Amino acid sequence: MHTLPSILDVAVIGGGASGFFAALQYAELVTDRSIAVFEKGSHFLQKVKISGGGRCNVTHSCFDPRELAKNYPRGSRELLAAFHRWQPLDTVAWFARFGVTLKTESDGRMFPTTDHSATVIDCFLSRARECHIPLLRNHALIEISRGDGCFVLQFENQPTPVLARSVCFATGSLKASPLMKQLEKFNQPTESLVPSLFAFNVTDARLSDLAGVAHPLVAIRRDGQQASQVGPLLITHRGVSGPAVLRLSSWEARQLASTNHQFTFVIDWLPEIKDAELRERFAEIRQNQGAKLIRNTPIHPIPRRLWERIVACCGIDDQVTWGHLSKSATKSLLESLKSARFHATGKTTNKDEFVTAGGIQRHSVDFRTMESRVTPGLFFVGECIDIDGITGGFNFQAAWTTAYIAATAMANR
Ligand SMILES: Cc1cc2nc3c(=O)[nH]c(=O)nc-3n(C[C@H](O)[C@H](O)[C@H](O)COP(=O)(O)OP(=O)(O)OC[C@H]3O[C@@H](n4cnc5c(N)ncnc54)[C@H](O)[C@@H]3O)c2cc1C
Repeated sequence: MHTLPSILDVAVIGGGASGFFAALQYAELVTDRSIAVFEKGSHFLQKVKISGGGRCNVTHSCFDPRELAKNYPRGSRELLAAFHRWQPLDTVAWFARFGVTLKTESDGRMFPTTDHSATVIDCFLSRARECHIPLLRNHALIEISRGDGCFVLQFENQPTPVLARSVCFATGSLKASPLMKQLEKFNQPTESLVPSLFAFNVTDARLSDLAGVAHPLVAIRRDGQQASQVGPLLITHRGVSGPAVLRLSSWEARQLASTNHQFTFVIDWLPEIKDAELRERFAEIRQNQGAKLIRNTPIHPIPRRLWERIVACCGIDDQVTWGHLSKSATKSLLESLKSARFHATGKTTNKDEFVTAGGIQRHSVDFRTMESRVTPGLFFVGECIDIDGITGGFNFQAAWTTAYIAATAMANR
């Protein structure tokens, strides 16, 4: 049992990544003031636990704030200045200071060298103990109002309210959160909430029974759009996933939500080869390897099983050789390789990272302090704000950065 002071200096709402980081930073900056973390669930840091497939992709090895900010479909402008104050180098150094060393994978993602999210959780919990920060679980904030020079916080099933001079909202996604109503009371502007970072559901003969096949490099775009996302693609039981798909879901989160996630998208299976080059490549193969069966000569880097399926779906018989490929079949194969159209019938998470776009409107928050421009004393950090990044450690980095800035500002109050 924790005994809280009659008025807390800071109440952090949410015991997730950003809430813990804000509390730890604050406790380090001011040792003579009070802070407590209130978590609605029975466990802290649940998303950290499952993040990165249980390995926790803590951040990304991108140390130039300008480059880093480009990875945020929503919030890149606001985060640019913020990253000048706390960026992945600071994250790496902070974790190292408390015994958690990070390693970088070939795609830039950074994980604890232990490959266990528990390492991050243990670090946060032991640091909170060292800093004597009260951590209160089963404390769901249900109502917030203004008192005399403080905020009055009512938690579910708690007999008495808690008073706090500053409140740091670190609640994560506000989707289905009763707090949206409370924020309306304070006239805090919000953006509508839509999912981001999801896989596409597709039922299509070109993909069926190919679950597990990974293509190292495709370009994928929404039909009718020029801009495509490039990267690996994974065929799943339900459709397609992988970095290129997740990136598209993130950059087009709002547009895709407006279609109720029923939309047509186009895959270029060979983005490094231009249309004209591919035509030349076909002519070359026909001339030099004309006796070879088409199904047996996949064009690098298309995986063999996928190639066989594409060829079959073009109506090209197993026994057809390059030398006997008709003009119309050549055209169909070229089209199927460079601009294959698919229809998505919905979205799924495929156990990957997913986040909510929308939430606290960015303009309503001063990113120099993370304080509400509408209600002084209310601070917002992490996913509850309308900022989100593509997959790769960028979402946690936004949580660390906004938490650091809020902690500094709350300490200076
Ligand atoms: C499966 C999965 C894997 C992911 N992997 C990665 C990854 O590897 N790298 C990465 O960068 N990002 C990853 N993400 C995204 C990342 O988890 C989030 O961006 C990050 O957790 C946001 O931190 P947060 O503190 O804002 O919110 P959260 O971590 O969601 O924490 C919010 C906390 O607030 C609590 N809360 C909510 N409402 C109340 C209330 N009324 N009262 C009290 N408490 C409340 C919640 O219970 C929760 O514990 C992943 C997401 C998912 C779903």
